[in-house]
Amino acid sequence: MVAEPTVLQFPHGEEPVLQVEVAPDATADDLALVHRYWDLTAYGWRYKVRELGSTLTVLSTVAAHSRAFLLSVGCSLCGEPIEIANRSAGTVLAGPTLTEPRATGLCSACQEHHTAVKEQQQRLAAQQTEQEKRKAKEAEQELRERVAGWTTREREAPCVARTVDGNAELVLLLALAERARAGRSKPLPALSSMESGWTGDVERDAKALSSLREQGLLVVDAQSPLSAFQLGNEGGLMYVPAEVLWSLKLDPDATVDLVAETCLRRATSIGQQPAAEIASLSRLVTTLEANHVIDYLNSLLTKKYGYPPVPEAREVELFDTIIDGITGGYTAGQMIAIVWRAADSAAAWKERNARMGPPEASSATVTMVRKKLDDARERRQPVPEYEPPRWMSVPAALGAARQVLEAVEGPRRRDRISACNQCDINGFVSDEVDGREVASRCLHLPAARRPDDDHVPADLN
Ligand SMILES: [Zn+2]
Ligand SMILES: [Zn+2]
Repeated sequence: MVAEPTVLQFPHGEEPVLQVEVAPDATADDLALVHRYWDLTAYGWRYKVRELGSTLTVLSTVAAHSRAFLLSVGCSLCGEPIEIANRSAGTVLAGPTLTEPRATGLCSACQEHHTAVKEQQQRLAAQQTEQEKRKAKEAEQELRERVAGWTTREREAPCVARTVDGNAELVLLLALAERARAGRSKPLPALSSMESGWTGDVERDAKALSSLREQGLLVVDAQSPLSAFQLGNEGGLMYVPAEVLWSLKLDPDATVDLVAETCLRRATSIGQQPAAEIASLSRLVTTLEANHVIDYLNSLLTKKYGYPPVPEAREVELFDTIIDGITGGYTAGQMIAIVWRAADSAAAWKERNARMGPPEASSATVTMVRKKLDDARERRQPVPEYEPPRWMSVPAALGAARQVLEAVEGPRRRDRISACNQCDINGFVSDEVDGREVASRCLHLPAARRPDDDHVPADLN
C-alpha cells in the first residue's frame, strides 16, 4: 500500500483557502512544525516564523516535507490551485489572509509548460542568430575577396592617360601627388576623414576623385575599410568615393609631370573652349580662396570674440563681397587683413552699444567687410597681407589650386605680356612652319628656355 500524504486545510472550521500536503515520510516533529508554519487563521498567520525556531531550519523543513496550494486563487490558464513555496509567495498572490486575490499566477504544470515553451523559443532564436552571424561572416568573406581581386586588377592595369580632364580633377591630382610625396608609401586619406575635404566641398571632391579613377589616374587602395564597399543586387561591386583610401596610378613625380604637361597644353591652347575652361578654373580657385577667407572670419568671430559665426542669411552677401575683392585684385592674404579689421570694428561698435548682442555683432561684420573693402579702394592705400594663424586649417588643395591657376593662366596675364619682348600685344609669337606663319601663345620665358627645348616650363615641383 502506497503511503498517502497527510492533508491539512486552513483556516480550521472555515471555508479553506490553503491546502497543505505533508509527505508520509515526515516525522511527527516535522509534521508539527509544518502544521505550525502554515497555520492560517481568518486574521492571518497564527505564529510568526521566528517563534518556530531558526528561520533557515523552519523554511528548509517546510520545503522538504510539504507542498502548499492556494485555493482562493486559481491558475490563470487552467484554473487549478496554484502551489506556493512559502508564506510570502502566498501574500503576493492573495494578501495576508490569502483571501484577497491580488495577482495572477500559474500552477506548477502550466508554469513548467510555459518555461519549456520559452526555452524552446530562446533556443530557436539563438539558432537563428547563429545562422545569421554565419551568413554575415560568409558575406563579409566574399566581399573581402571581391574587393581584393578588384583592387589588384585596377592597380595592375596599365596607365593610358596622357592628360587630365577637368579643372577640379587637375587641382586634386596635384594635391594628391604632393600628399603622396610627403606620405611615402601610405595610401591617400579617405575624403570623410579630412576636416573639410580637398577643396572645401566634399561633393565636388568625391566627383573629382571618381573621375580621376575613371581616367585611370587614381586607384582605390586595397587597404580601404571593407565598410566602404558593397555588393549590388546584380552582384556588382560598388564603392563609396568619400570612404575609400586612394593610391596614385603613377608615382608622385610622374603624376606631377603629367599635371604640368596638362597645364602647359591648356596655357598654350587657342580658342573659345579653352578660354572658357580657364575662366572656370579661375572661378574654382577664387571660390577656394573666398571660402578660406570666410573660414578665417568665422574662426575669428567664434574663437577670439566668442560670437556666433556669420548668420546664414548673410553668407551669400559675404561670399560675394570677398569674391569682389579677390577678382578686383586683392590677394587672399589682403582679404584676410580686411576681414580682420571688419571684425575688430564690429566688436568695438558692440562695446559702445549696450543693446548689441553677439549675433548682431557677427551680422554687422558683414556690413563692415563691404565698407572696409570700399574704403581701401577709394583711398588707394596699400593693404597688408596677413597670414592666417597656425591653428587655422588651410583647405588641403588650396596650394595646388594656386599653382595650377598660375601655370595655366599666367601666360595670358596682361602684365606678363607687356613685360615680355618676344611676343605681340596679345601674347602671341609667330613661327615659320613649312614656309607658313603659325601663331602660338608665348610663355614669356627667357629666350634660352623656349618650350621646344624639351623643358617643362610650368614649374610645379
Ligand atoms: Zn494551470
Ligand atoms: Zn611673351
